[in-house]
Amino acid sequence: MSDAIFPNKTTPTIGFVSLGCPKALTDSELILTQLSAEGYQTSKTFQGADLVIVNTCGFIDDAIKESLDTIGEALTENGRVIVTGCLGAKASDDGGNLVRQMHPKVLAVTGPHATQEVMDAVHTNLPKPHDPFVDLVPNAFGVAGIKLTPRHYAYLKISEGCNHRCTFCIIPSMRGDLVSRPIGDVLGEARALFEGGVKELLVISQDTSAYGVDVKYRTGFWDGKPVKTRMLELVQTLGEIAEPYGAWVRLHYVYPYPSVDDIIPLMAAGKVLPYLDVPLQHSHPDVLRRMRRPASGERNLERLQQWRQACPEIVIRSTFIAGFPGETEEEFAHLLDFVREAQIDRAGCFAYSPVKGAAANDLPGMLPLEIREERRARFMEVAEAVSATKLQRRVGSTMQVLVDSAPGMGKKGGLGRSYADAPEIDGVVRLLPPEKISKTLKVGEFTKARIVSAQGHDLVALPI
Ligand code: SF4
Repeated sequence: MSDAIFPNKTTPTIGFVSLGCPKALTDSELILTQLSAEGYQTSKTFQGADLVIVNTCGFIDDAIKESLDTIGEALTENGRVIVTGCLGAKASDDGGNLVRQMHPKVLAVTGPHATQEVMDAVHTNLPKPHDPFVDLVPNAFGVAGIKLTPRHYAYLKISEGCNHRCTFCIIPSMRGDLVSRPIGDVLGEARALFEGGVKELLVISQDTSAYGVDVKYRTGFWDGKPVKTRMLELVQTLGEIAEPYGAWVRLHYVYPYPSVDDIIPLMAAGKVLPYLDVPLQHSHPDVLRRMRRPASGERNLERLQQWRQACPEIVIRSTFIAGFPGETEEEFAHLLDFVREAQIDRAGCFAYSPVKGAAANDLPGMLPLEIREERRARFMEVAEAVSATKLQRRVGSTMQVLVDSAPGMGKKGGLGRSYADAPEIDGVVRLLPPEKISKTLKVGEFTKARIVSAQGHDLVALPI
């Protein structure tokens, strides 16, 4: 699934202008790829966008003038502008920032090669779609490629496309059927990422549990040994590769097929994180049938409960759609009960929104927008209560936290995540300043922390 399912109305859109040399262009590519990976759409016009990013050049006077003029134009036509690139780093005559002096209304200014800073400014000014099924990060990092994420975590894409035909989704018509990457390539890329300092590997695809179906689970080779192109072998081997690096492996987009049961013991044994992102979309069997979802609903609750028995610390994240065509109040109530009973740790929910070309548009019983929105709000209320209770139970425990941000070596605290939090889509662990003078925090390193309280989706913890 992707933002394509929930088009313009709910998808934040960004206008982008790239000026300057090939190096600036590469910066633009990195920013655009990251925007797309996070589910933002790009717009060709300033007016049609929620905000505009101008990547500037500050090399010669003509280029400076062109950049300043473009910023002015974007401010006039759109009003919400983030400036990046060489001109952003240029000082004015009085020692201030040239762009800010000329255009005080810009939202943020960064220098060149500052993807993360630009993304931070985008997140501050235009929250990203809270959609875990965002477009996948292209296969650009790894063995010889460019990494588009902070240095300490990376996405590992194992396949492209999808063999299912969910009625609300147009991904298969855009990206085609499932094509699994050769297992040797995937594992080789994983090792290169760990070698390069990655401490958390996020396995992504459209349907991770279907890995290898298209090649009939063909036996491939890695490190001189035969390995089947199949989820179980993939996860087992990723766990083995990660171990000497002390790194995490996190699984996304896993459908609750019976074969996933075999992965749970690997989680219980600490080989991979006890975290599963399982996009369920609904619980009622009739709605799931109308959605034409893989791994239909009847046994999902039972399956989740079995997983929890086998691995009590498992965290389940999922997304749901409220107000699907024809959804009755009773079917919706089934969904609310399911979220309570299944104790979904992290749940996202969209009000159903028709997508051009999706089969669900022809289903009878389209609900008015107010009902769809109202159900979404009711869903989130229940889901947040479940999540908050579960977070509260962690208070007093000690968790391993991967540090994402720690200005000044963490002397004033920082931000991190536990195994229960995937980057960008879940909560965070807010780290307090360490009590011990000698204790420092470093981005990309693990720290143990004692949980002192829960706040909304987040935990507050004292590094120890
Ligand atoms: S499983 Fe369904 S929702 Fe996901 S990509 Fe395939 S068709 Fe779309």
